Amino acid sequence: MVLDFIKAGYQRVKNALLKTGSLLGNKIRSLFQGKVDDEQLERLEKLFYESDLGIETARQLTSTVKSAYLQNPNIDVNAILAIVKAELLGMLGTSGGPTDTLESKPHIILVVGVNGNGKTTSTAKLANKWQNDGKKVLVAAADTFRAAAVEQLELWAKQLDIDIVKGAPNSDPAAVAFDAMQAAKARGSDVVIIDTAGRLHTKQPLMQELEKIKRSCRKFMPDSPHETLLVLDATTGQNGIEQALAFNQYTPISGLILTKLDGTAKGGVAIAIQRKLGIPIKYIGVGESIEDLEKFDPESYVSLLLGD
Ligand code: GDP
Repeated sequence: MVLDFIKAGYQRVKNALLKTGSLLGNKIRSLFQGKVDDEQLERLEKLFYESDLGIETARQLTSTVKSAYLQNPNIDVNAILAIVKAELLGMLGTSGGPTDTLESKPHIILVVGVNGNGKTTSTAKLANKWQNDGKKVLVAAADTFRAAAVEQLELWAKQLDIDIVKGAPNSDPAAVAFDAMQAAKARGSDVVIIDTAGRLHTKQPLMQELEKIKRSCRKFMPDSPHETLLVLDATTGQNGIEQALAFNQYTPISGLILTKLDGTAKGGVAIAIQRKLGIPIKYIGVGESIEDLEKFDPESYVSLLLGD
């Protein structure tokens, strides 16, 4: 049952890749239709690269496939796909997947990222997920500079029938976060999800603001926030990695939410991210509606890329 649920979201991403003819597995299958030769092996590296796997991964995969070919010049495409699959799974390791058990009450989650990446939507999706797990959830609209973000979160909160704490326009986001945590304590909430501002990541004041929100959290509960999730847009490819590095430098990130995987024509960015950052991917966003958030699962992800 759970497996079916996991698969549905991944299937949606796979369908999107199929529609644009960009499913890596299918590209590899058509490249090696006949016998494998040197020229095709050169083109293989390009396919890996085009799938957003990152240059190091593209090189490493190609070199592993080449060695296998040298050992067995009769190697067929299925054997090549099996090698690629094993390598990719090895790169993703066992990391990833979300937090399923809550050790603190309330469990405090800070959601950060550049505007437009899907922060507010992901906050609402996470709230829905925890609520479906039977938890009492409170969201905090701490992006006090964007009235639209606050309104959007309010709409979601109403629709999900969950508590929301918001501040006056342009009020101090750290104060909103603190109010939210106090409200959560008073109302017996299990999870607090704080949606933050996301003006350009290169601007220092944003990072200072996030640090101030974190201080608010620590003042309320010394070991909080329990999770700091960075929302990255999968369609921005390598640029997302730069964003993550910038955020992580100022505010340590405990996990990633990779959104809009349903909208990428490449799909492989999770591998590049995992390799470059080593920060676990916790969830993937696979659409605009509230249920479109899936737990990141390396096996399902690699299977989708290779079109198993
Ligand atoms: P924020 O500025 O980071 O808070 O971003 P929003 O949550 O407002 O999202 C920006 C846009 O991206 C909205 O139109 C969302 O519906 C859309 N969006 C967010 N997540 C996903 C996703 O996983 N898939 C798709 N296709 N769209 C998404």
